[in-house]
Amino acid sequence: MDECIFCKIASHSIPAYVVSENDEVMAFADINPATKGHILVIPKSHATNLFDIEEASFIKVLSLAKRIARVMPEVLGCSGINLFHSAGKIAWQEVMHFHLHIVPRYRREELQRPFVSTPANKTELKEIALRLSRKLSNK
Ligand code: 5GP
Ligand code: ZN
Repeated sequence: MDECIFCKIASHSIPAYVVSENDEVMAFADINPATKGHILVIPKSHATNLFDIEEASFIKVLSLAKRIARVMPEVLGCSGINLFHSAGKIAWQEVMHFHLHIVPRYRREELQRPFVSTPANKTELKEIALRLSRKLSNK
């Protein structure tokens, strides 16, 4: 992926503040941090998002994210973490190379919750669960 900014970071063609890397994954500081210590974890091999990333690659990204998250309270003084991923432009994804955000949290008020939850329609919940469950059983 010649034009992909995160492929360029993965190959060290452009600089980043790297936290950890091996042949398959890399973690580096987000250039516009939501909070102090906001880190991105990527697979080095290009995938767009959760829809197309290989499971083995996804597990390696998750594993590195967990290792980083575990040391954040001690290193940064945060008391919590938000882990998030946007898949697709409609879901706010801007960089089209898979990345997991690790956002350290210091105060509840520092960020806005991105969604407002509303009480469920139970019939709809049942139908959705059934449809997804049936599809998974067929795979
Ligand atoms: P998205 O909105 O796609 O989930 O998140 C993309 C993230 O990548 C943003 O938080 C943005 O600040 C970060 N970002 C975009 N370009 C660069 C870059 O060139 N270097 C680094 N370190 N982060 C970047
Ligand atoms: Zn890429």
